[in-house]
Amino acid sequence: MSEPETPDRATLAERARQSFATRFGRPATTVVAAPGRVNLIGDHTDYEEGLALPMAIDRSVVIAAAPRETPGDTACRIHSVAMNETCVVRRDDLVNTPPPAGRGWKRYVAGVLALAPDAGMSAPAFDAWIESTVPPDAGLSSSAALEVAVATLVESLVGRTLPPLEKARWCQRAEHVYAGVPCGLMDQIASAASTAGHAMLLDCRTLAMTPIPLPAREVAVLLADTGERRDLTSSAYAERRQACRDAATHLGVATLRDAERVDLDRVADVLPPAVLRRACHVIGENDRVRACAAALRCGHWSDAGRLMNESHDSLRDDFEVSSAALDAIVAAARSIGSGGGVHGARMTGAGMGGCVVILAAPEAASGVMRRLTRIASSVLVVRPEDGAGPVCGG
Ligand code: ADP
Ligand code: MG
Repeated sequence: MSEPETPDRATLAERARQSFATRFGRPATTVVAAPGRVNLIGDHTDYEEGLALPMAIDRSVVIAAAPRETPGDTACRIHSVAMNETCVVRRDDLVNTPPPAGRGWKRYVAGVLALAPDAGMSAPAFDAWIESTVPPDAGLSSSAALEVAVATLVESLVGRTLPPLEKARWCQRAEHVYAGVPCGLMDQIASAASTAGHAMLLDCRTLAMTPIPLPAREVAVLLADTGERRDLTSSAYAERRQACRDAATHLGVATLRDAERVDLDRVADVLPPAVLRRACHVIGENDRVRACAAALRCGHWSDAGRLMNESHDSLRDDFEVSSAALDAIVAAARSIGSGGGVHGARMTGAGMGGCVVILAAPEAASGVMRRLTRIASSVLVVRPEDGAGPVCGG
């Protein structure tokens, strides 16, 4: 399937505004958007206080909304087009109520609303219509986009904005407590704080964010989706995290951020080979992110691409979170080679499914899309987008 034109934020906002008016019988008073993200390099580093290089993409969750008009009303009616469902969240119910069980999308919305007072925000009851161009469960962080969009809506209804880092923490807590996903902070930060035209070098220890320019006339980012939705299972994820903890303990460091590759020689006799390989990935990945950010800053696209290739090989062989479908797309992209305009390709996100990210020359993008369409379920060009905010006129 080749990619049909994806509506931009303004188009999506207009659609949401119209649908809101039809569904709720009055005009929306605000429209907000929050983007999904792709991680260019630096996977499985966040929980060891490492480095990552995410980029917000031009695919967003957009919400049109208006306060309820009945005084004393506490019920929020929220419709998601993607889920074809309206959920009702009563603000009274959120107080002292345990997080909703199960896997439904309401958990993400209810979580952000429930924790709003902790963030110093108290929104009036509202009705909302959610449009989205972030495919769910594809590793592009639709959950963070949804959470950050809801938090941005609350800001808009309250008339006060938080620093992006505070907003990201609020959303991360919602995902931890209400969705039961012990995620790092990268997804929410990328969605809340990115700058158009730039990726973001993120230090997961200090939370320093450094914009890295990605000029559209010089470099393109493509995503090829395997169509596999077999995300890393919680047991596999827990095993990887525990291996990193074991390695750090044996190395006598707080986190693997403080370790270097040579340090692993010291513990090679005491740690199981699989644990050593997990640690080797994390330590090497931090070095690769640093080098990749430096290469991108200088416009050394092929160096950046080579580091992305090395990152994939490490995730496949040492961290063992790739899949046959991811490997096949990476191999196909690499076979096009630098002569065909491909600088590098790697799996992105937690792994075992989801997408491959490709760094390419802009003039080669359509040819690369055509080639990869044969084996990927979809291929799209993504552009570095601004973080969350009100949509113009919204
Ligand atoms: P990812 O964040 O990689 O897309 P997750 O499993 O973390 O995958 O989050 C996906 C979940 O987020 C969906 O299953 C759904 O519950 C929720 N979600 C994402 N987009 C929307 C949307 N447009 N409307 C409602 N819920 C959504
Ligand atoms: Mg998610």
